[in-house]
Amino acid sequence: MSDQHMIWLALSTFLVLLMQAGFACYEAGMVRRKNSVNVAIKNVADLGTTIFFFLLVGNALMFGSSWFGLIGFAPSVVIDGSPPDLLMALFQAMFCGTAITIVSGAVAERTSFRGYLLLAICMSVVVYPITGHWAWAEGGWLLQLGFLDFAGSTVVHGVGGAIALAAVLRIGPRLGRFESEGSASYIEGDNLAVSALGAFLLMFGWFGFNSGAATDFNHQVPLILVNTGVGAAVGIVSILAMAAALGRKPKATEILTGMLGGLVAITAGCSVVQPLGAMAIGAVGALVAVWGLGLLERARIDDPVGAIPVHLFAGVIGTVMLPLFATPEHIPEGIGGRTGWVAVQALGAVCITGAAFVVAWVFMGVTNAWARYRVSPEDERIGLNVAEHGAGTAMLDLLNQLSAQGSKGDFSTPVEVDAETDAAIIASFYNQVRERFVREADRSRRLLDEAARLALHDPLTNLKNRRAFMQAAAMVMADLNRYGGDAVLVMLDLDHFKAINDTHGHDVGDAVLVELARRLSLAVRDSDVIARLGGEEFAVIVSHATLQQGMVSARRMLHTINGAPFEVAGAPNAALTVTASLGVTALSRHALFDHALKAADEALYEAKRAGRNRIVPAGQERTEPAASPPTPRHAPSGGGSGDPLAEPSTA
Ligand code: GH3
Ligand code: MG
Ligand code: MG
Repeated sequence: MSDQHMIWLALSTFLVLLMQAGFACYEAGMVRRKNSVNVAIKNVADLGTTIFFFLLVGNALMFGSSWFGLIGFAPSVVIDGSPPDLLMALFQAMFCGTAITIVSGAVAERTSFRGYLLLAICMSVVVYPITGHWAWAEGGWLLQLGFLDFAGSTVVHGVGGAIALAAVLRIGPRLGRFESEGSASYIEGDNLAVSALGAFLLMFGWFGFNSGAATDFNHQVPLILVNTGVGAAVGIVSILAMAAALGRKPKATEILTGMLGGLVAITAGCSVVQPLGAMAIGAVGALVAVWGLGLLERARIDDPVGAIPVHLFAGVIGTVMLPLFATPEHIPEGIGGRTGWVAVQALGAVCITGAAFVVAWVFMGVTNAWARYRVSPEDERIGLNVAEHGAGTAMLDLLNQLSAQGSKGDFSTPVEVDAETDAAIIASFYNQVRERFVREADRSRRLLDEAARLALHDPLTNLKNRRAFMQAAAMVMADLNRYGGDAVLVMLDLDHFKAINDTHGHDVGDAVLVELARRLSLAVRDSDVIARLGGEEFAVIVSHATLQQGMVSARRMLHTINGAPFEVAGAPNAALTVTASLGVTALSRHALFDHALKAADEALYEAKRAGRNRIVPAGQERTEPAASPPTPRHAPSGGGSGDPLAEPSTA
């Protein structure tokens, strides 16, 4: 091998290697971010396994001495290969790597890392070398028939695409892709700009892929380079033209698919057609590839990156079409002209891709128990970056926190993730929304509390109102009925309150009521119920008290009112002497509260009649009618009725 020869081969090797970077970008951009690391790492890992196993075994099976044109046998090139042989084997390993990495995109987002690598090893050791032997090795049965696949439309791309098809049929579509009856859900890729960069890298590397197959920088190379460029260009243009003809906008994925379809299709015949022929082949390849995207969707086959239409469909069509556009001097003798050649091309394409499909299908079926090709639904949902490589945990952390808040309904604390991660942006937006939500919820709760308070409290004195009093009374009665015990009801009405209003004004009257409420509250126990029933009428339930104890309590109430003058703002002459009349009744088990109210009211009325500023226990009102003592209009100074049943008004 001449130096120039080796330089060209080395350079081509590097260019084909660059296609791996192209595939990594192309696929990473077309999957969701939660799987992008997994896809890229699969591309790195399969390159490693391919080079390793192809050099060790695959190269010998592919290019060793042919056994009936079916398989080659030779010692491993790494054992006794000369440097040029080794370089050639490395170059071929890059081709094998390309075939294999095609599969990674098709099975993306739901395949286990372990399963994928197992499949990659099977391909580099068995499938690719053997089918490649048929077409490319001296003595290969297809080569002998006149089959031409110059740089691998079928041998590389068709094989990759066929294995991809077997694999996606085995593992099934991604969760959510075809769940609704009839229509498919489009799962948007993370970053099509990265995919476009991948397409550029692929095209750049493709120049080495196609012209490197000449294995020397010979007279064929310029035409190959031009045809390769033409294949990509016409692939793009034909999709733009198709969209224009259909009167719609071209989709980004269609343009990328078209470009790669054109490149794949021209690969087989790039050395034997003129640029016009390359245009025809590239255009058909591109259109078939884009048509294939729709076909797979209708067949409910999930190929996230369109690897099957691009590599299998366009690869086969490019291989079969090549005789139609090959320049006459390239038509093999005795093959039956262009028609015969097309038949051979079709036979080769079908046999090679068919064999690849069948072997991959059987291999995956046999090894599935160990390889577990399909990841669990949980792993698929979390994403393979995390599930398979422990990467990207910030987003997972965030999702866990969000789901915990949602399920517990507790939004009181902000979610927390590392500030430098992508998840932090989402977390910060979420926290803003959460804070606003919590503030609004607090405000609504305060308003509701206030509304509830207003519904049950007297706004002037803040004591319970009649409705709340009746509710509390019902509970006291329920307790009495259930557990027994005693309680006492006290009704209280200010004496000559109207006079206070008339003399000092309504505001002073209000202030007296407020002060009265304060004093009463201090005079009763916390467990007692105290309420303003209306006007200047109040009621207290003294809990856990016999009538006797209730009377003691009532005396304390009266004393707190008449024991010290009321000093209220706005009242001239500083202090007002205020008195009240009280009616008291025992609350007994199984009695009706309404009856007790009535009894206490009657006792209160009796206290008024008996001269006010006194306490009358119910049931005793009529035993001794009280005399009505003269009382000052607004400063009653005491009972002095002499009623023996009436409680003394002052201590
Ligand atoms: P008695 O000793 O017989 O109870 O005489 P009284 O003047 O206290 O009784 P009456 O029921 O005739 O008058 C009650 C007065 O209470 C009438 C009303 O103007 C006044 N009043 C009722 N509610 C309020 C209030 O919220 N604020 C003020 N300032 N006065 C009120
Ligand atoms: Mg009154
Ligand atoms: Mg009254």
